[in-house]
Amino acid sequence: MTDMTERYEAVVVGGGAAGLSAALVLGRARRRTLVVDAGEPRNAPAAHLQGYLTRDGMPPAEFLAAGREEIARYGVELVRDRAVDASRQDDGEFRVTLAAGRTVHARRLILATGLADELPAVTGIAERFGRDVLHCPYCHGWEVRDRSFGVLATTPMSVHQALMVSQWSKDVTLFLHRVAEEELTGDDTRRLAAAGVVVVAGEVAGLVVEGDRLTGVRLTDGTVHDRSTLFVAPRAVPRNDLFERLGAALRETPFGTYPVVDETGLTTVPGVWAAGNAVGFAEQVVNAAGAGYRAAATLNGELLFADLDAAQDRSWPRS
Ligand SMILES: Cc1cc2nc3c(=O)[nH]c(=O)nc-3n(C[C@H](O)[C@H](O)[C@H](O)COP(=O)(O)OP(=O)(O)OC[C@H]3O[C@@H](n4cnc5c(N)ncnc54)[C@H](O)[C@@H]3O)c2cc1C
Repeated sequence: MTDMTERYEAVVVGGGAAGLSAALVLGRARRRTLVVDAGEPRNAPAAHLQGYLTRDGMPPAEFLAAGREEIARYGVELVRDRAVDASRQDDGEFRVTLAAGRTVHARRLILATGLADELPAVTGIAERFGRDVLHCPYCHGWEVRDRSFGVLATTPMSVHQALMVSQWSKDVTLFLHRVAEEELTGDDTRRLAAAGVVVVAGEVAGLVVEGDRLTGVRLTDGTVHDRSTLFVAPRAVPRNDLFERLGAALRETPFGTYPVVDETGLTTVPGVWAAGNAVGFAEQVVNAAGAGYRAAATLNGELLFADLDAAQDRSWPRS
């Protein structure tokens, strides 16, 4: 027998921008909703959230605290815990197990679990990520405009990053690191030259940091290149375990494996939506919030019509 206090119309796993936005819509739609959040949002290393209209420059933790306050106004519950298992029951509803031992039941699920960034294994990068080691010019480019940029190549695709960041500074050096010069195409070389990007061969050994500021990039041959900002390309590690446990179809992309979803975020498992970075690495905060909204609104409509159809079946039995 399901404990009715543990039965929700919707459980949202993940309390970042996507999950909280979904929860706000569900709460306002009067759905009994629980958010389960492990509290590790992707942009935690950054001091400021940029590019979200009306919230530009806000500390990410403040943004999420405001979101949690808003969902509480509508009776949405939030628990700081990790969902470790989810399964679809024979009746089409879901059972979600939390790390602390609690089990909750949900008629519908939204998984907004984000992703983890696996940083290149170069000494000093992890400590400075989100400060002067950056990955996204839309997040931080304005703040470091016109400074001396380095770009650490981890694959030939890093050429694209070097070209992109040249929009924010004309002083860009691409460190080929472990990428061989021969791996660059003719188009790469022509575009890098057109953008004025300096290409440096040789492996990067580490960063030079003085007074808590990045000042240079050191190669294994001991040469130091003065740079005050380093762009890197973390490997996106999607958190797919719950999708896998639920049997959702996944698709491979050059930036990781993500659940197959339709335009509302509905996965291939009926009743399970996905939103935000759980669906793709490029979703910024504003997109993640939008996706959470869309998933929640679709979920609400689907639940409404499912209940109306069930009520109609009960009052108008088919012969
Ligand atoms: C350094 C850095 C700076 C950035 N700066 C910007 C910026 O300025 N502007 C911008 O638009 N974007 C920025 N981004 C991108 C931004 O972080 C993402 O767009 C945003 O976090 C996506 O929101 P989300 O809700 O999908 O995921 P997240 O914010 O990562 O939230 C996912 C949440 O789900 C939780 N979770 C995961 N698995 C479970 C589980 N099994 N059970 C319970 N909870 C779980 C996590 O702990 C986390 O709290 C930046 C990213 C980085 C790395």
